[in-house]
Amino acid sequence: ADLGVRNITYEGEESEFAIDKSSLAIIRDPNKCIRCRRCETMCNDVQTVGVYSAVGRGFETVVKTAFDLPLHDTSCTFCGQCVAVCPTGALMELDQVDKVWKALNDPTRYVVVETAPAVRVALGEGFGLEPGTIVTGKMVAALRRLGFDRVFDTEFGADVTIMEEATELIHRIEHGGRLPILTSCCPAWVKFFEHQFPDLLDIPSTCKSPHQMLGVLSKSYYAETYGIDPQKITVVSIMPCIAKKYEAARPELGQDPVTPDVDIVITTRELSRMLREAGIHFDHLKEEDFDHPLGESTGAAVVFGTTGGVIEAALRTAYEWLTGKPLENVEFEPLRGMDGIKEAVIPIGKRDFRIAVTHGLGNARTILEKIQSGESHYDAIEIMACPGGCIGGGGQPYHHGNLEI
Ligand code: SF4
Repeated sequence: ADLGVRNITYEGEESEFAIDKSSLAIIRDPNKCIRCRRCETMCNDVQTVGVYSAVGRGFETVVKTAFDLPLHDTSCTFCGQCVAVCPTGALMELDQVDKVWKALNDPTRYVVVETAPAVRVALGEGFGLEPGTIVTGKMVAALRRLGFDRVFDTEFGADVTIMEEATELIHRIEHGGRLPILTSCCPAWVKFFEHQFPDLLDIPSTCKSPHQMLGVLSKSYYAETYGIDPQKITVVSIMPCIAKKYEAARPELGQDPVTPDVDIVITTRELSRMLREAGIHFDHLKEEDFDHPLGESTGAAVVFGTTGGVIEAALRTAYEWLTGKPLENVEFEPLRGMDGIKEAVIPIGKRDFRIAVTHGLGNARTILEKIQSGESHYDAIEIMACPGGCIGGGGQPYHHGNLEI
């Protein structure tokens, strides 16, 4: 990959399948498939989406989508968990590094970058640091070396999401809106929901995800305050996530059809590659701070990277607005008989407020089916598609039994 040979296909008798470039997030090259079926296990057993299946083809087995449909036409959520486990590159994220280089090398563009909380704890792995090492300051310094005009923090957008979700939650409580409210900051989860539970479409929060919030603020508030033509701004998001590529391209998530909130999304892995291409000695860099004002955050948003963080932050805000007091620790208890689902009960005034947290789309399906059947009653639920939340996102450094990028 470092030599730029990612797009060269294997030659020989296996080079008989067309490469599927239909989706806005994942590239599928069946010629590289070795039938290990890890993608099928992740998609069917863990995520319960069921895009891939192994089928007999003469004397051999091939892994394909139902009816061999292009990925774009399936119910794939683009969570990228299949990409994270594929050992051969038969499944890859849509590489957008070239687009970022092009924007950075165009003197007419004002290029803004924002980074998600889960990136700063994983990026160091690409440079030999222990998994979990926090490299925020070095990451900011490296992004400036790459040539970005401003380095912003998606945590600012997450703070805005928290306030918006808390406002929406209070509005539904006070004005009789439909509960539970479901968090909407995970695009894979949103797509899963749209395909699988169309009868519940009025319950997710209407808030944009944090990086989209920051994207639109960069092209509106920031552009206006600093006298920059928003049409000249390119917003690049660095995410642990493959589905955010698809999310940024959704036509309804922009100010108009030609002005998306976010122009380009690259993953933690793609950023590692860019830094290597630029010959930046990451470990030698001195730490630097984000740019102001869109690089500031309260700290509440830092928990967005892990499961439970979004709903806890929104609830803390709603609690304080409703009672005038800060909320003590929120104790989540595992829900009996439902693996991977936790709940907490928080008294607000005379009412007990029930919230649930889960991750992985299989768990999400379980909890939504219980809501549909009337067995479960919650006021708010956080759902993140990837196992463990964004920290385990499909765009994070590969872990194929060892550490590599
Ligand atoms: Fe993306 Fe996070 Fe959702 Fe995974 S859990 S699809 S990384 S937003």
